[in-house]
Amino acid sequence: MGLRLTILGCHSAAPKSNAQPSAQLLEIDGHVFLIDCGEGTQLALRKNKIKFSRIKQIFISHLHGDHYFGLFGLIATFNLLGRTEPLDIFGPKGIKEIILLSLKLGESWTKFPLRFHELTQDLSHVIFENNRVKVSTLPLDHRIYTNGFLFEQKTKERPLDVSAAAELGVSSAYFNKAKQGHWVKDESGKEVDFKLITKEPTPNISYAYCSDTAYHKTLEPLIKGVTLLYHESTFLDQHESLCQTTKHSTAKQAARIAEKAQVGHLLLGHYSARYKNLEDFKSEAQEIFSSTFLAREGAIFVIEDRARLELTEI
Ligand SMILES: [Zn+2]
Ligand SMILES: [Zn+2]
Repeated sequence: MGLRLTILGCHSAAPKSNAQPSAQLLEIDGHVFLIDCGEGTQLALRKNKIKFSRIKQIFISHLHGDHYFGLFGLIATFNLLGRTEPLDIFGPKGIKEIILLSLKLGESWTKFPLRFHELTQDLSHVIFENNRVKVSTLPLDHRIYTNGFLFEQKTKERPLDVSAAAELGVSSAYFNKAKQGHWVKDESGKEVDFKLITKEPTPNISYAYCSDTAYHKTLEPLIKGVTLLYHESTFLDQHESLCQTTKHSTAKQAARIAEKAQVGHLLLGHYSARYKNLEDFKSEAQEIFSSTFLAREGAIFVIEDRARLELTEI
């Protein structure tokens, strides 16, 4: 168990063969989340052999078409497939109106509950939580209201050191308490540090998705130390001047924020269609942050749930 990220689309708006707009499928400890849903997302899901029924939550960063135009088709397909399970859609205020209007005019209401969670706040806050994962917003700096999303594995229990517990005379009635990180008592009633009878848990894995945004300093503390950061890099350095008007970033700016926030690995994407060689994004970013990877349609990135938080592309 750990993290598995499938890139369904990683280009900016202009259509090109073999270049899809933004969409990613994230699995953390077996829980599946769809992040953004650009046009063509359902075809990409099919191509990558991902079962549609596994998707229960969809997170939409903003209401530019390259991040949500695929939602209409995906919802229609869920209906065709006879879905009955509720679908949670998190996105900016207005998303409910857009989707419901299209369903109303098409007289094609879904047979499954659509639950909208509209976002309006400018401060990072928790929007979803289950037993293993917590999701918070990451307010971004774009032309319209935009949020990135931070997915964090919840703190795990500390594994028990049974022989140490026996040696120190701690009864099994206290094991759960110690695993949760609380001091316990031995047979004589003396306090025992939980660290003496438990081991360190493997570190939590976290994933920050940041698209679309200009270089945004305010992000730094929010993504501090995340295991993997996806940051948009629409432009190369030669077009940095376009970032101010379009509110996008260069590969170097993405690398700068990765370095400042001391993240584990950086994944680039949302490339402008004007560039032919994506390797240029990687080499420009690596001048600043060495552990940089390139998102590509169909690529899968994996982080195993163990002490070394290595990123592998498969
Ligand atoms: Zn975009
Ligand atoms: Zn945008």
